[in-house]
Amino acid sequence: MSGNALLQELYDTPEAELLEEIRQLRARLGDKVLILGHHYQREEVIAFADITGDSLKLAQRAASTAAPYIIFCGVHFMAETADILTSDAQTVILPDLAAGCSMADMADDAQVNRCWQELADVISPDETVTPVTYINSTAALKSFCGEHGGIVCTSSNCERVLNWAWDRREKVLFFPDQHLGENTALAMGVPESDMIIWDPAKPLGGHTPEAIEKARMILWKGFCSVHQLFRPEHAASMRERYPGIEILAHPECSRAVCETADFTGSTEAIIRHVEQAVSGQAFAIATELNLVNRLRQQHPDKPVYFLSPTICMCSTMFRTDPQHLLAALREVESGHVAHPIRVSAEDSLWAKLALDRMLELA
Ligand code: SF4
Repeated sequence: MSGNALLQELYDTPEAELLEEIRQLRARLGDKVLILGHHYQREEVIAFADITGDSLKLAQRAASTAAPYIIFCGVHFMAETADILTSDAQTVILPDLAAGCSMADMADDAQVNRCWQELADVISPDETVTPVTYINSTAALKSFCGEHGGIVCTSSNCERVLNWAWDRREKVLFFPDQHLGENTALAMGVPESDMIIWDPAKPLGGHTPEAIEKARMILWKGFCSVHQLFRPEHAASMRERYPGIEILAHPECSRAVCETADFTGSTEAIIRHVEQAVSGQAFAIATELNLVNRLRQQHPDKPVYFLSPTICMCSTMFRTDPQHLLAALREVESGHVAHPIRVSAEDSLWAKLALDRMLELA
């Protein structure tokens, strides 16, 4: 049966039957499979995850597991990262191959190589610039960083990684998310005048050679389409409606939102912050909807609101559903995985170097 026909059959199966089969299959497979679930996954999928976490925690878990099969309920770059960090004998499965990340798509290999060449017309990037890629990027960009003395970061360890990068070379080229780089650097005390935003559509990123020579932080013009929907006026309206409310923001939000927030941190940091708060404290949270809804359910004594009046959900994270998870588990049981995630040997080699540099710091 083709993949589409199988999925159609699963969509026609009553939900209770489908969930029961997942439960039984999961139990039969035991240690043969590890199911990783990103915090932004829907509840019905998270319910079956062996480990839930943000990109850093899941990358660490992928690096340490001996399970022959890893089903990564997340998006494409996460499954690639798991493949890079695991052995050739292990197989990584992304339940829905169409689960990508619009931010990761905002910087490709050709654009970043062109940027590096353009920088070479002005400065010597291999001597003066550390490339830092957010983990939300393709394996090719992680490989680029490994090859050019650079590193990977996540939203949990960005400050530590930037310190590492500036200890080595005077400048950082940060991609693909402008906001994580900008918000973290500002929090570290780097003045705005030391940063420029590189627009890959313009020659020299839209800058003069003098501006490039002066910059310490070159920020790629990329963003997360989900986190860009939060606005500072949403925070103002929440404060008016709920005096004493705390505003929590993910650093992929714009600078204006992070500046108005009481706390900015990764998904893991936001979860910890809510867990450690006193009973009765209210929160308005600027990050993906599934995580915010889960926090509301887990902490009925702490009113949790979604910061935006409109629904900001990661549509690609949402693609993974119980039907895709069951199809992946059936493949594991059959021993035939039609489309495993495989990163080329060359990209894996350099990308692993960049990831290992990060994991040593984490
Ligand atoms: S929330 Fe944003 S950065 Fe995260 S996977 Fe979705 S599009 Fe990519």
